[in-house]
Amino acid sequence: MAVALTAAGIDNARFEARLLLVHASGLTIEQLVARGTDAVPVAVAEAARALTARRVRREPMAYILGEREFWGLPFKVTPAVLVPRPDSETVIEAALSLLPERERAWRILDLGLGSGCLLLTLLREYPMAHGVGLEASPAALAVAQANAEGLGVAGRAALRAGDWREPGWLDGLGGPFDLVVSNPPYIETAALDRLMPEVQAFEPRLALDGGSDGLAAYRTIAAAGPKLVTSGGFLVVEGGEGQIPEISALFSRAGLRPLAPWKDLGGIERVVAAGN
Ligand code: GLN
Repeated sequence: MAVALTAAGIDNARFEARLLLVHASGLTIEQLVARGTDAVPVAVAEAARALTARRVRREPMAYILGEREFWGLPFKVTPAVLVPRPDSETVIEAALSLLPERERAWRILDLGLGSGCLLLTLLREYPMAHGVGLEASPAALAVAQANAEGLGVAGRAALRAGDWREPGWLDGLGGPFDLVVSNPPYIETAALDRLMPEVQAFEPRLALDGGSDGLAAYRTIAAAGPKLVTSGGFLVVEGGEGQIPEISALFSRAGLRPLAPWKDLGGIERVVAAGN
């Protein structure tokens, strides 16, 4: 398995091979190690071969395994949703530092739910909060709903179908909100075909394509910001490398007050927060 993965240009081939074998066998890693060199049952070997073939075609591990951890929580993922990324945990860090009172009944909105990783993590961190989530893809909405149930926060999460590219998208959202978060699509359309194969060939375009300059979603979000965010509340968004100054400028022009950006673990400016 590891040899095939290495030949396909995959860096952590041994580690991934082990995860695929765990998935194919239904055993834990400890049970697998305990079996040592015992013969692998034919059905497991076949399942492992099929999973390896998917990974060799550069399908993301998260889609093959059906799950990805975010902020220490397990999120179900399918190809309908962007794979949750560690960079996006910066949005959670920023939100928690801006609204440090955990026991308040904050009202939170997530624009573009995907797996629900931002909103549902925040609902776990703020046990009295209520959240609204908007998602344009029905298949993604179903994944987010399943995650809300799996994480035990469905009773505080109103997840709805809606698309901010349509007029009237704000109607009935029930704002204003103390906290509005978003990881919108931010890749320039022309750059989509240059992304790494896992992203380019498998992840949903709807979650990636930010229009010709990558900033289309931020214009819409900025324009809605003053109506969506309470006075004293915050808008917190993820952005692409190099986009943070432009996103801050868009928020300023809309009448919001952007704060100093947050950096991700790689030291890249990743998150803009703005007060209303
Ligand atoms: N972080 C993703 C990437 O680099 C992009 C996510 C997005 O457009 N919001 O592929």
